[in-house]
Amino acid sequence: MMNYVSTRDTGIKVTASQAITKGISAEGGLFVPENLPKVSMDTVSELAKLDYIGRAKSILSLFLTDFTEAEVDSCVKGAYETGFSDAKVAPLAKIEDGVHILELFKGPTCAFKDMALQILPRLLTVSSGKAAKGTKIVILVATSGDTGKAALEGFKDVENTQILVFYPSDGVSPMQKLQMCTQEGNNVSVCAIEGNFDDAQSGVKRIFTDKAIGEKLAANSMAFSSANSINWGRLCPQIVYYFSAYCDLLASGEIKAGDEINVVVPTGNFGNILAAYYAKEMGLPVKKLICASNSNSVLTEFLTTGVYDRNREFFTTISPSMDILISSNLERLLYSVSGSENVKQWMKQLSEDGKYEVDGATLDEIKAVFAAGCCDDTETKETIAKVFKGKGYLCDTHTAVAVKVYYDYKEKTGDSTPAVIASTASPFKFSAAVLEAVAGGTEGLDEFEMVERLAEVTGKACPEQLANLRDKAVRFDGCCSKNEMDGVVFNMLGI
Ligand SMILES: *Cc1c(COP(=O)(O)O)cnc(C)c1O
Repeated sequence: MMNYVSTRDTGIKVTASQAITKGISAEGGLFVPENLPKVSMDTVSELAKLDYIGRAKSILSLFLTDFTEAEVDSCVKGAYETGFSDAKVAPLAKIEDGVHILELFKGPTCAFKDMALQILPRLLTVSSGKAAKGTKIVILVATSGDTGKAALEGFKDVENTQILVFYPSDGVSPMQKLQMCTQEGNNVSVCAIEGNFDDAQSGVKRIFTDKAIGEKLAANSMAFSSANSINWGRLCPQIVYYFSAYCDLLASGEIKAGDEINVVVPTGNFGNILAAYYAKEMGLPVKKLICASNSNSVLTEFLTTGVYDRNREFFTTISPSMDILISSNLERLLYSVSGSENVKQWMKQLSEDGKYEVDGATLDEIKAVFAAGCCDDTETKETIAKVFKGKGYLCDTHTAVAVKVYYDYKEKTGDSTPAVIASTASPFKFSAAVLEAVAGGTEGLDEFEMVERLAEVTGKACPEQLANLRDKAVRFDGCCSKNEMDGVVFNMLGI
């Protein structure tokens, strides 16, 4: 049986089901496995013979030790058997020798969040059946764009759940906004909030940990859970695709068993890259984890200097899903490297001063594993154009940040270890910036005309689920201030 402990108090021990149902620990810490399971190279070689579903079942079973085999099987199949437009679920595209793009955007909302959010509601339903029978699960989401839609799509009409998404009023792309505001389903609500993503996220975190609000829900047989990447049920499924990418490279003969790879991840909340770190700690031969940021380069600074300082200018960029100054999942890395006492202290400093500095030993250990870099909007667009013109590959703005940071890293270090670059969204989700990058002006074109034009100019097809949005009715157009969030929640729940 695998137990989970809180990053701020290892005396708190829960099962996988409890960790997933609770989302966050009561004192504010995040749940992490007490010990990470190890996966041998022999096992990886066996996994290489399986499809994505087989690989996912095998990896997830190591973590969901209080699920039956049948439960894991049905969650995995329900999430990945249909619903993804590519039978490989997370395919690799080779753009040149030793450089592979891991396409994580083949799900229903065209962003990598689907990889986790198609399965989380299923994990949560099984978990709450074990850990909190008879309670209705209330999902509150703060989104910088892609999580919101992916969570809505994952939870819509799932029995015994209700979901409310808050997004920053000017922090998401028109396509992202339209995707959310047209969401179908009887248990869904969407509301804009005046402010940026961090405002939305801290508002949701506050509501989660507010005792009086929790009691009011309990009195109505309801309980909060989280679909944000602080939920273990979000992170765990993300570990799978790093194993799967390695398996695909093995199966296609690009690498031999035991060869190292580098992994490059466009990073915001530090969830995706943390999953890669866990894969490495479990035994996957990863040499460097390369963390790519946009102009909100708080992580680049942290990973190179050991100083985390959120007191800085906030930039709204063309890669909005990475416009984040508080990367919540970093806490889990700090726990792995440095333990709960330090984490508690640093997180206290972060909430009081917006800043902390880790000790030298911790920084050294982090730097042995992580490299980091950042790039601005101009470089992002240049990269999109260069990769399209030079290699015929069209990537979105977030992916382009990772591609740019990877080539910078390679040039600086001479490290030519085969690289897997995570691609986190369809380019058609961010048509304005992508079109501008490959074809110049976008003046006078609305969102859908840009999508059409992008398809025309590049010869690539727009995913159907984005093209179809044009004909959908807007269901949610509300906007509230930070102080009004509680009221919006009660209103939606009818309590
Ligand atoms: C969420 C998201 C990211 C950032 O992922 P984290 O796990 O938060 O680091 C990057 N790109 C896209 C398109 C996203 O939706």
